[in-house]
Amino acid sequence: MTDWDYAPAPESRDVVRLRSSYGLFIDGRFSEPVDGSSFKTVNPASEEVLAEVAEAGPGDVDRAVAAARRAHTDVWGPMRPAERAKYLYRVARLVQERSRELAVLESLDNGKPIRESRDVDVPLVAAHFFHYAGWADKLQHAGFGPDPRPLGVAGQVIPWNFPLLMAAWKLAPALAAGNTCVLKPAETTPLTALLLAEILQQADLPPGVVNVVTGAGGTGRALVSHDGLDKVAFTGSTEVGKEIARTLAGTRTRLTLELGGKAANVVFDDAPIDQAVEGIVNGIFFNQGHVCCAGSRLLVQESVAEPVLDSLKRRLATLRLGDPLDKNTDIGAINSSVQLDRIRELAAAGDAEGAQRWQPACQLPDRGYWFPPTLFTGVSQSHRIAREEIFGPVLSVLTFRTPAEAVEKANNTPYGLSAGVWTEKGSRILWMAQRLRAGVVWANTFNRFDPASPFGGYKESGFGREGGRHGLEAYLAEGNETLGPPKAELSGDGARHG
Ligand code: NAD
Repeated sequence: MTDWDYAPAPESRDVVRLRSSYGLFIDGRFSEPVDGSSFKTVNPASEEVLAEVAEAGPGDVDRAVAAARRAHTDVWGPMRPAERAKYLYRVARLVQERSRELAVLESLDNGKPIRESRDVDVPLVAAHFFHYAGWADKLQHAGFGPDPRPLGVAGQVIPWNFPLLMAAWKLAPALAAGNTCVLKPAETTPLTALLLAEILQQADLPPGVVNVVTGAGGTGRALVSHDGLDKVAFTGSTEVGKEIARTLAGTRTRLTLELGGKAANVVFDDAPIDQAVEGIVNGIFFNQGHVCCAGSRLLVQESVAEPVLDSLKRRLATLRLGDPLDKNTDIGAINSSVQLDRIRELAAAGDAEGAQRWQPACQLPDRGYWFPPTLFTGVSQSHRIAREEIFGPVLSVLTFRTPAEAVEKANNTPYGLSAGVWTEKGSRILWMAQRLRAGVVWANTFNRFDPASPFGGYKESGFGREGGRHGLEAYLAEGNETLGPPKAELSGDGARHG
């Protein structure tokens, strides 16, 4: 118990004007789905239904792809790059102007603390649009040939953990490179993508340049298997990523995949312990651990394991779990009941396999989906909690004795998205970074993102890079490359549906 308690500091939700129902954003307008289907999106912190959202079927996906094709051929493709840049700058500024509204809506629909949506997600969204606006008229200097050209129409499917940020990661580079897009947000978090669609209208983005089709896996499947696309970009689970790779094998549609992870956060005995503890907390408890690059495996050098774990437990006891809209909240709600079941199942597997669970005293709210911050010690490499992505606030702790053992254990995973190294020695950081099979290696920090910095995986974490100059490559063809699907497919007829 502390002597002092926090007074509630809720952010007002008045800034958000929720509508009872939302349509599909196709060709610059909101419209009803062809067959009239819809689904509900709920606030995971209260289970309150926020809105009814249109569910796009194959016919709607067809309409969206056809609108994107027309917009690419008639408007966005031929437009001078400096003109495209102006639209992207305008979107970036509107995101900044409407940042409170976006942050509150994101926390309502996703369950993440307002502190994160306000200070991390939304500022990074604006930063991505600003960054790629700057590239739009400099593509010939990006290192992909003297006359790089857009691919055409991109189908983009994103997950629920950073709904608006993932939309920005997908849209900003694609648009800057001169492509048009059909975006499918995740079914549990569609609302900020739809608010972004309103912002695109406000920015006068020409109709059809961006289309948003909401729905679940079936809508995603109809989109990625549509043969009117030149490019598919997917962020989500490795399982679905593999299915998409199989669907697109042998076609001319380009593919990038950003998939799961099981990152090692490696703490050496010379690391500053207090800083490392903050990094461990940020690594796994940021966004309730719903982070593909989360530091979900702590590898701590045996000689400092005890003080690190003592300090970590003390720190975890101070984390505040509860109302995502309260500015004091550190840990918000789990995004869905399905995800909560997955976390519970894997944590139970940790108990059954003999690891020791530790959780701080923590009052969970009566309604909504919640899981307390959790540590497992006594974890061995063969345990499911050391191998499988939990995607929740659960840390598996392992120890090592030598740097070589740390590398061996860190790389002993089918994934390879990120890693962290905590040490005072610069030479050891470089030694580790050369050996860790991970797309991103953070040194004495974790979960730092910058639009100028490429992000992506090795092995089952996917392929392709998002962010920075590298992120443009996924959306560009060299001048002499043959582009686009055969003419017969451009009308939107004869689409291949999964
Ligand atoms: P998911 O793969 O189930 O869903 C992701 C998206 O794909 C959703 O929009 C969903 O509707 C859609 N989808 C589902 N089935 C589909 C299908 N057969 N064809 C096409 N689209 C389909 O993943 P999830 O559980 O929503 O998200 C969590 C996963 O995403 C985690 O594994 C996480 O690591 C990963 N992720 C990766 C990154 C990254 O950058 N590498 C970022 C965020 C999340």
